Amino acid sequence: MGSPSKLLPEVQAHYGRLRHYVGGEWIESKSEETLAVMNPATAREIAQVPLAATEIVDAAVAAAQAAFPAWRETPPLERGRKFFALRTLMLRDADVLARILAQDQGKTIEEARAEIQRAVENVEVAAGIPSLMMGYGLEDGAAKDIDEEVVPQPLGVFAAITPFNFPLMVAFWFLPYALATGNTYVVKPSEQAPVVWQRLMPLFAEAGFPPGVVNLVNGARETSEALVDHPDVQGVSFVGSTPVAKAVYARAGARGKRAQCGGGAKNFLVVMPDARMDHTVAAILNSAYGMAGQRCLAGAAVLAVEGAHDAFLEKFRRAAEAMRLGYGLDPATDMGPVVSEASRARIVSYVDSGVSEGAEAVLDGRTAKVPSYPGYFVGPTILDGVAPDMKIAREEVFGPVLGIMESESLDAAIERINAGPFGNAASIFTQSGAAARRFRYAARCGNLGINVGVAAPIAYFPFGGARESFFGTVHGQGRDAIRFFTQHKVVIARWS
Ligand code: NAD
Repeated sequence: MGSPSKLLPEVQAHYGRLRHYVGGEWIESKSEETLAVMNPATAREIAQVPLAATEIVDAAVAAAQAAFPAWRETPPLERGRKFFALRTLMLRDADVLARILAQDQGKTIEEARAEIQRAVENVEVAAGIPSLMMGYGLEDGAAKDIDEEVVPQPLGVFAAITPFNFPLMVAFWFLPYALATGNTYVVKPSEQAPVVWQRLMPLFAEAGFPPGVVNLVNGARETSEALVDHPDVQGVSFVGSTPVAKAVYARAGARGKRAQCGGGAKNFLVVMPDARMDHTVAAILNSAYGMAGQRCLAGAAVLAVEGAHDAFLEKFRRAAEAMRLGYGLDPATDMGPVVSEASRARIVSYVDSGVSEGAEAVLDGRTAKVPSYPGYFVGPTILDGVAPDMKIAREEVFGPVLGIMESESLDAAIERINAGPFGNAASIFTQSGAAARRFRYAARCGNLGINVGVAAPIAYFPFGGARESFFGTVHGQGRDAIRFFTQHKVVIARWS
């Protein structure tokens, strides 16, 4: 791609102040305060997002509350069928949704398509709600003629507050399950990448979901807090950074609400000396630099065990050097920009701190530039000789930076993983079943990969997360999500 592209029509159509979607209607924001939404590759503004739209929260929750009784009484079979229609529509529009994501968030077009695919998979699971939502029972439970049964029921209005890195997919870890179980919903996307929802919301109506069943409010912190505080909101699904996850969990808990809050991450990748090195390098390349390192499952540090270091690093450095940085809409691009100038500056300062604490930048992306695109680029970066007490080893960077550490044994590597505060994901690369089993048994993380660089569960399984990476009991996706969005009523009946 030679010169910076013009805004594509699907984005141009939404240029200006983003609207909310309440009770099946688009609503202009009255909020004075707005934030510019930037295309991270071109550094050009693509929209203005209202920031403190608290007035709209009341309207959105009221619309969801009004839609609840009829939606709850819609048989699960019928609710499920609407997800078949939604799936068809999302796939019909996948291309345009992907192009919006690439312009709004910065990821490559392939990554954007994969995000939509993952969202759609959750819609597919929700279509099976009649079997997923079944309760269970026991005849003659306590005594003859006394039967007991569990009846899962919806609760009312739920809300999602989501991060910038997967503007569409993360909400789909929750939303389809909330709706399928008979609840109604309010989504508040990240103010950093909210545009895709302007294109997505009408698809719910087209699929046959009644007005008010799904609502969209734009905004930032104040809007999120108003949602958590609203007395008619029964519970909240949050995903974002650890300090905010913790604050939202505490805030919801103080109001007696259920909450599931995913936080930040620092994911370790253990490379054993018997690892198949070509496969390992390819998997870790994708893990560390896919989506410019802005996945919550991104590999942040390699723990090279018992001499695996040299063989890994040499191959990995060559592969990382060959990556093409560029605009996500250019099909030749392997890695896009990070989301904002603030993110770029934060990532660069983490690399600075690693180098000043004694790590060696064997590949340094701090000053990377992409011709014609003045956006927020950081090239693939490798820091070798990272020590456990360095800031770069302890904190989440959320950018394309891989630290390399050496470990004398597998147990020492597992200890290192468990000593950190985060427990989102970890992977091991080995051909030894015993090593893999030891890792599975002892690593205290919610998503584990064995010869897999990005341990992302498909929609039928819960998206794990532990310790400072998750606050709550049941996660998003699959059966966990069904449990979160239902109240289990126990009925004890005596007929004789
Ligand atoms: P963030 O915490 O800054 O924002 C997330 C959401 O919270 C946004 O919608 C934002 O408007 C809202 N928010 C911000 N401050 C708030 C406050 N004080 N109270 C209530 N709401 C508030 O996160 P981000 O920068 O958008 O996303 C990146 C982070 O998300 C990284 O830490 C990453 O690891 C994490 N993440 C975690 C997972 C997971 O599954 N655990 C998945 C994706 C991203």
